[in-house]
Amino acid sequence: MTDLLRHNANLIDGEWVPADSGKTLDVINPADGSVIGRVPNAGAAETRRAIEAAATAFTSFKQTLAAERADMLFALYDAIRANIDELAHILTAEQGKPIAEARGELALSAGYIRWFAEEARRIYGDIVPSPFKNRKLLVTREPVGVCAAITPWNFPSSMLSRKVGPALAAGCTVVIKPASQTPYSGLVWGALAEMAGFPKGVVNVVTGSAREIGGELTANPHVRKVTFTGSTEVGKMLIAQSATTVKKVSMELGGNAPFIVFDDADLDKAVDAAMIAKYRNAGQTCVCTNRFLVQDGIHDAFVEKLTERSRALKVGPGTGEGIDQGPLIDMDAVEKIEGLIADATDNGAKILAGGKRHALGGTFFEPTVLSGATTKMKIASEEIFGPVSAVYRFAGEDEAIRIANDTPYGLACYFFSRDLGRAFRVADALEYGLVGVNEGFFTTEVAPFGGVKESGLGSEGGRQGIEEYLVTKYISLGGLGG
Ligand code: NAP
Repeated sequence: MTDLLRHNANLIDGEWVPADSGKTLDVINPADGSVIGRVPNAGAAETRRAIEAAATAFTSFKQTLAAERADMLFALYDAIRANIDELAHILTAEQGKPIAEARGELALSAGYIRWFAEEARRIYGDIVPSPFKNRKLLVTREPVGVCAAITPWNFPSSMLSRKVGPALAAGCTVVIKPASQTPYSGLVWGALAEMAGFPKGVVNVVTGSAREIGGELTANPHVRKVTFTGSTEVGKMLIAQSATTVKKVSMELGGNAPFIVFDDADLDKAVDAAMIAKYRNAGQTCVCTNRFLVQDGIHDAFVEKLTERSRALKVGPGTGEGIDQGPLIDMDAVEKIEGLIADATDNGAKILAGGKRHALGGTFFEPTVLSGATTKMKIASEEIFGPVSAVYRFAGEDEAIRIANDTPYGLACYFFSRDLGRAFRVADALEYGLVGVNEGFFTTEVAPFGGVKESGLGSEGGRQGIEEYLVTKYISLGGLGG
């Protein structure tokens, strides 16, 4: 047990507390099925207290100077960096990703916090030229209030950094509800916020029943903002629940990313990028490629190289030396991809690599390549969330764009082409919030990340990220005529 893991408790109003019932949830290491710890199984009552603490803390925290908040965020950045190894080990223990990926995620978390520490001092307003005599029209930006942050298990640290960072920079207070499978990476935000000197009640963390905690967070009128990352299904429910008290919402939801390879692509670069865009986090990212659309002329060469590289991936526990792919999060994930592969092969797809559970057992799965995929298969419309590459063939540019856009999702997409005209045409035509052109990875704190259509609302990161935590106030200042 590490130091930061000592927090087998929730942080409410500056106190580390158990669930009222004393009940706990087991936290499982997906690499070996062992129980690594137990966290509180809290519900609505504890959440209500956390919200009240955040509401009380907001009255003073919103008055802090931007420079004071920036300094606390820089201290939070330092605390993450100083503990990065321990944090990465906690993350790998409960989530399964290779330790190098966990370190990368923590570095990204630190990056978001530093970015928003800088942004805290740039929350400008406007003075509007007045159409009235003897009046000044002032537009100011204020923190929205208490924010509820609900996050998934696949990026249990960085998904919080891009919510908590801008919320605190804006002067908001937060109640965090991390995923039940990865609660420690959420609870550590409480510990880190304490280290950084944030006043009590500014950051609260509650673990336990999603339905009860989510119900209270969305119904309680003190909460003015719900920021969620997770499935489209749960996101829609949270939007509906938040409507009763008209909360501001941001939603980072599911995807169905196409990765288009045109005949004029640089083949090796496309394959390098495909490996990242598909197999990072064992395929369990919202921006992971779901559909490889490959043009006739380059199809066979691309498939051959992708197959060779997929077979060469080293699968094993995330803490192992040189591991490329860890276990899947749980057995449901394994069964889901088995079902998608069976449906695809029943309908004519061919397995060129992998296709089954890995010899290591548990939730390890072989990196898999399927050729001959078609849009009629379930794998074309469902989020795979696993290490399965499904390759489709297409003939022309218009066809590729039509297939790529034929989904209710609109998060990430990728395409490879060396034709400048095509690069602009296709980037314009793709109905997605994130477009990688000749790139398989684009996440950075300095650019806005977010989806369109049923992939979400709002942006995280970039200069846009803080807007989600601000409201606009217009002050009409009259009587200036003397
Ligand atoms: P999920 O089932 O939607 O869960 C996400 C979070 O919502 C968890 O904390 C979960 O709590 C909570 N939750 C579940 N039911 C709830 C309810 N009724 N009320 C309130 N909260 C509730 O998603 P997941 O399986 O963890 O994550 C995978 C999904 O996230 C994928 O669809 C992926 O594409 C998406 N994702 C999107 C982005 C993005 O930036 N767009 C990034 C990462 C992931 P429990 O854990 O306690 O159930």
